[in-house]
Formats: sequence, structure tokens, C-alpha cells
Amino acid sequence: MQRVFSGIQPTGIPHLGNYLGAIRNWVTLQKDHDCLFCLVDMHSLTMPWSPEALREQTLASTACLLASGIDPTRLYNQSAVSAHARLGWIFNCVSRLGWLNRMTQFKDKAGKNRENHSAGLYVYPNLMAADILAFHATRVPVGDDQRQHLELANDIAQKFNHDMGVEFFPLIEPLIPPHAARVMSLRDGSKKMSKSDPSAQSRIILNDTADEIAQKIRKARTDAEPLPSEEAGLEGRPEARNLLTIYAAMSNKTLADVLTQFAGQGFGTFKQALADLLVETLAPVADETRRLMDDKAHLMQVLRQGAERARAVSEPIVSEAEKLVGFLR
Ligand code: ATP
Ligand code: MG
Repeated sequence: MQRVFSGIQPTGIPHLGNYLGAIRNWVTLQKDHDCLFCLVDMHSLTMPWSPEALREQTLASTACLLASGIDPTRLYNQSAVSAHARLGWIFNCVSRLGWLNRMTQFKDKAGKNRENHSAGLYVYPNLMAADILAFHATRVPVGDDQRQHLELANDIAQKFNHDMGVEFFPLIEPLIPPHAARVMSLRDGSKKMSKSDPSAQSRIILNDTADEIAQKIRKARTDAEPLPSEEAGLEGRPEARNLLTIYAAMSNKTLADVLTQFAGQGFGTFKQALADLLVETLAPVADETRRLMDDKAHLMQVLRQGAERARAVSEPIVSEAEKLVGFLR
């Protein structure tokens, strides 16, 4: 059985992009794969954070993932399992500055004021490679924005194997969904939907109420044209394309079918249908998340047990990597 690893940062409540790009596929994969799903709290320190918010968001994200259908025995938080940090350090010393300099996520997140960002943000992809390879995971379900980081993880694994003269780390295969792998902001069709976007209106989060979902969709940016009948008519209309793509992904239809369904209509009718569809799927998740949030002790227990299992899997692999690089025990 192939091993799957994937993570989500507890930098906020998971949103529709996380759901369509990652979480929904995790739920499917766990049926026939050996899965580990991780709240990557160490990655959450790469941007400015508040300890109180981090604690709260780690629990809230745990609740959201459970409410979405993630198996509780497969879920844990990264910092509770030392293998991540230990292999992450080794990979800091395997990865090359030239490789990291090409990472577009660093450029996007650091913006113009690079000098003032944490060193952690810069080496983030090395830790991400360690997250996966500490388990010898071979399949990684992520959104499109993580494609480049996974290529880097394979470069790191290959260089480690080459330098140590042994085929120790396996190749990783990214599992990026064919549709809705990059859900865009509701306020700006050129930016991806993100937890870290300062505008709460830019994203639908998994504990929004039905009213909040409807209001965010109503206010989502669009253009003045009616909806086209074919994909060519979406050229230069990123906001329209985004909403139609979300509709298609949520209803498990093709974009072509959705275009046929709404051809020639204005955004008013379409947005109402989209809001109804989102509420139908997400409102039960939000209700269950709120219910789970009432029992923090249970959420803590889920994370502790998950960490125990993750430790048991990663410990022999990372100990072996440490031996290979020359550490004495
Ligand atoms: P942050 O802004 O803090 O980086 P994020 O919204 O980018 O948060 P992550 O925790 O970094 O979310 O990513 C978790 C998973 O969700 C990853 O697999 C990532 O590829 C996926 N993902 C993130 N944003 C989107 C999006 N807009 N569309 C599709 N998938 C996404
Ligand atoms: Mg991100």
C-alpha cells in the first residue's frame, strides 16, 4: 500500500481552496492508502504569529479536518514529532541556496521587504521535504501552488541518495487534482485564495455560516458580461472562470457542462445557485466543526494519539538517515 503524506498550516481556518485542492482528496485517499495528515505548526512560525492564535487555530483546524471526514487516527501536529525537525536540519545542509532562490512562494510571501523576513520562510521547502520523506511517503496530495516545492523535495532526496551512495529516499509523486487545484481569491482573480490574505471576504472558510457563505458569494468580484457558453469566452475573465470552476468542482461536473447550464445568464442567478451548492456541502461541515470545538480535550487526545503513530513510523527512517550522514548514537 502506498504511503501518503500531506499537511496544512494552522495559520487560520481552512478555506474552500484547501478543501478542493487538498482535504477533499485526502478523504478519498485514506480509503486505500496508508495516510498521514499533519497540522504543520512549525511552518506556521515562518510568518509573524501569535502563540495564542496558533494554539486556537491548531485545534480549530483539527476540528475542521475531522468534520470534513479525516480519520482521527491519521492526524497529528508536526512539532510533536521530532523527526520533522531532525531531518529538516539535515535537508538544510543538503539543499542548495540556488535551488531555494528559485522558489516562487518565498518571493510571493516575502514581497519587496525580503530582508525583514524570517530565515524559516526561506528554508520552508527543506522542512516540507523532510515532512514527507521522514515517512518515506511516495504520494503527496496538494494544491497546484505546492508543485514547485515537491520538485525541490525530489531534488533534495536525489542529492542525499547520491551523496550518501545509497538509494535511501524514494521519489515523490505529487497528486494535484485535475480541476480546482488553484482556487482564486473572491476579491481578486489573479491571487490564490489564502488563509493569510488580510481580507476575510477573499475566502470562504469551513466554519462560515450559510449566511456568510451567501454574502461572500454575492459580493465576490465579477464583470459585467453575461456568462459565456464555451470556455473560450472566459478568456481574460479570471473571476468568472474561478466561480465557474468552483461550481464545477463542487457539483462534480465538467466546466463545459456548467457553461452549458448557465450560458447567457447574468451573475445574479449563477451566484445564487453557487451559494446554494456551497451551503449544501459546507454547512454540515461547519456545524460539525462547531460541535467538535466544544470538546478541546478530545481534540488534544486525537492529536496525541496521531503523534504517537507518526513517531513510530518516522523514528526508524530518520534514525537511519542520521546514521547515514555520520551521526553517532
Ligand atoms: P497560507 O496563506 O498560510 O500559506 P494557505 O491558504 O496557502 O495558507 P496551506 O496551509 O499553505 O494554505 O496549504 C494547505 C494545502 O492547501 C496545500 O496542499 C495547498 O497546496 C492547498 N491550497 C492552498 N491554497 C489553495 C488554493 N487556493 N487552491 C487549491 N489548493 C490550495
Ligand atoms: Mg500556503
